Amino acid sequence: MNYLQYYPVDIVNGEGTRCTLFVSGCTHGCKGCYNQKSWSFNAGVPFDKMMEEQILRDLKDTRIKRQGLTLSGGDPLHPRNVETLLPLVQRIKHECPDKDIWVWTGYKLGELDEYQRQMLPYIDVLVDGKFIQELADPSLPWRGSANQVIHRFKSDQF
Ligand code: SF4
Repeated sequence: MNYLQYYPVDIVNGEGTRCTLFVSGCTHGCKGCYNQKSWSFNAGVPFDKMMEEQILRDLKDTRIKRQGLTLSGGDPLHPRNVETLLPLVQRIKHECPDKDIWVWTGYKLGELDEYQRQMLPYIDVLVDGKFIQELADPSLPWRGSANQVIHRFKSDQF
């Protein structure tokens, strides 16, 4: 998996102060997508062990307390990205159980297959659905268009 950007301190992509990773690769092709350069799986740079260690270090940092990690993109729930992100979210929940994980995806929750659904037990908040330009509303918190849904999961739901 490649990623486009990592913000060690972010206050706009989810609640609280967070770490945010924008992964590469998305096949939804939404008209008006805010981040078309993220569509290619080859965009950005490879996500490696050093990057993983940095995220864990940042989440454990006590000087700037983070509420959790945000995964956006691109699409973190594309199967090619799940392969890398599943071990990452599993490790975060194991080593930092007090941190929450927010994920933005272009899939609807009901469209996810068994492989993608392996991520769900580790996700606290999922914002789902494609961006639909005709339903765009900048006043919506955490969403670009009104069709998208914010799912707040309980940890024992899956
Ligand atoms: S799901 Fe997100 S990144 Fe993918 S095309 Fe739609 S708006 Fe762009």
